[in-house]
Amino acid sequence: MKNDCLFCAIAAGEIPSQKVYEDELCYAFYDINPQAPVHFLVIPKEHIAASVSEITAENSGVVAHIFEVIARVTKEMDLKSYRVISNIGEEAGQSVFHIHFHVLAGKDMHDTLC
Ligand code: AMP
Ligand code: ZN
Repeated sequence: MKNDCLFCAIAAGEIPSQKVYEDELCYAFYDINPQAPVHFLVIPKEHIAASVSEITAENSGVVAHIFEVIARVTKEMDLKSYRVISNIGEEAGQSVFHIHFHVLAGKDMHDTLC
């Protein structure tokens, strides 16, 4: 667990969150400031990387697992269409430097790639 990391504290249950899904490797919870009717985040429980830019052969297994979880959880939620986003760096909008994936659904996103 990394000191002063908000998402490490959320994964450890030290800061409350609205759980979507949890297993031994990852935790999914609703975003506190939703940008769509459905907006949750999926994080590795361990602080394996600040962002996608730090993915390596050594830590990519948990990232693959997170995508399996996204596929499964969205099916269980009956989401037919959704978007997965990961911001890398401040200019891209990253504010929490513990790798995470946004899952957004429930609104028309045709004209808004960014
Ligand atoms: P990013 O800006 O890509 O780093 O995403 C960080 C996300 O975390 C933002 O969408 C925030 O709304 C969200 N967030 C910040 N604090 C919390 C919290 N305590 N619980 C749930 N989501 C949070
Ligand atoms: Zn962390």
